[in-house]
Amino acid sequence: MPRCWITAPMHELSIAQSVIDLAVKNCTASGHTAIEKITLSIGSASGVMPEALAFAFEVIKKDTIAGNAALCINNVPISGVCCECKKEFASYDRYFYIFNCPHCNSAALSLTGGFELDMVDIEVE
Ligand SMILES: [Zn+2]
Repeated sequence: MPRCWITAPMHELSIAQSVIDLAVKNCTASGHTAIEKITLSIGSASGVMPEALAFAFEVIKKDTIAGNAALCINNVPISGVCCECKKEFASYDRYFYIFNCPHCNSAALSLTGGFELDMVDIEVE
């Protein structure tokens, strides 16, 4: 028998497992038998790769009541305020946090958003 290896990184695999476990548990507890759609918010600084998470989700959802569920991912920008010029900024760049203020180039940044990893909505049958 050929073996099929899951190639998604463990990080996203375990997150996808947690998302499905939580959604299935909640929906089963409230008497629903099928999940149609799960919506997540993922911050650009959360360290989660949306593509890898979506792949892991497709693998893990099989044989659960989320077997036909779609995954919807809202990408949340990194946002913050510069400690020098006090201007706000936001970026969808996943590696923005290693850079400087886009206004004055200061490295003293106070980040206020972009670390989210939230389940925001579950649609059921
Ligand atoms: Zn600045």
